[in-house]
Amino acid sequence: MMIVMTPQASDQQVEAVRERLAATGVHVVVMPGELTTAIGAIGDPQGVTELGLEGMDGVDRVVPISRPYKLASLELSHQEPSVLDVAGRTVGGGETFCLIAGPCTVESAEQTLAVAHAVKAGGASMLRGGAYKPRTSPFAFSGLGREALQILAEARAETGLPVVTELLDAQHADVVREHADVLQIGARNMQNYALLEVAGKLGRPVLLKRGLSSSLDELLQASDYVLKGGADVILCERGIRTFETATRFTLDLGAVPWLKLHTHLPVIVDPSHAAGDRRLVEPLSRAAAAVGADGIIVEVHEDPTAALCDGAQSLFARDFAAYAQRVTAHAELDGKRLA
Ligand code: PEP
Ligand code: MN
Repeated sequence: MMIVMTPQASDQQVEAVRERLAATGVHVVVMPGELTTAIGAIGDPQGVTELGLEGMDGVDRVVPISRPYKLASLELSHQEPSVLDVAGRTVGGGETFCLIAGPCTVESAEQTLAVAHAVKAGGASMLRGGAYKPRTSPFAFSGLGREALQILAEARAETGLPVVTELLDAQHADVVREHADVLQIGARNMQNYALLEVAGKLGRPVLLKRGLSSSLDELLQASDYVLKGGADVILCERGIRTFETATRFTLDLGAVPWLKLHTHLPVIVDPSHAAGDRRLVEPLSRAAAAVGADGIIVEVHEDPTAALCDGAQSLFARDFAAYAQRVTAHAELDGKRLA
């Protein structure tokens, strides 16, 4: 932490701050400048924050120097990108590109199995499908719950594809854990810290989506909650709220290279929820691969026109293989091969 004094601060005020800091056991360095004096406090930043030094006479501001996220940080806990093994599929590490595809929501066994086979044939490495859905309206279809988990297990058994499904509520933790290879935490729950703590202790990797209005710092601090419990984390950029309403959300492609600089965690992109329109899904997917994403999670349906949820943004299953090939070409330019 750096404590910056006001230009008018007296020597006594500087000394009072120095003494206050020293009493907590941190190492203190006083740096007199031409206009203001800065005081460096090396050690426990949380303890220094809690001192409330802004309230002391002569203090202008308290500036954090170290990053607020710890376990997710590339510098602090890992020097190299993490490589995850999800039921035999590699995620992250810069050499592979993973395609997670499937329906927004499991609607029936026929629908899910048909999509699962189509995406498998097209090169997908995992199957997505919602069992418990967060819906904006309480009157909208909110998923088949346990029955959907059963269907996903069937799809996994038939295709060998590991399953990604959302953990919406801690009360479903055991049953979702039992059926899922990867637990998705949806955008709306990114700041549900109690749920993140539960998810972190279930012994499954967690696909953590960025909140609709969350900064990347907040995303990484949320990931610390999961990492603290011992689980691996895959980060997912899925579009954020901006003033632009032409697309459902604004896909923040800059987040991908920024996250690559600051965290060791794999980063994937969800072009479906960002776009809200299937015509934009392929260009956004190609762009995501080009900026260095470790993979894509994309919605696919046999007949999106009849989908119960997110049909407008779902790719036709019959188009998936060609789509996957074109997206993979961009990942290959970035030095990755399909996982
Ligand atoms: C989803 O993946 O179906 C979903 C609801 O995503 P998000 O939480 O990003 O809106
Ligand atoms: Mn969806």
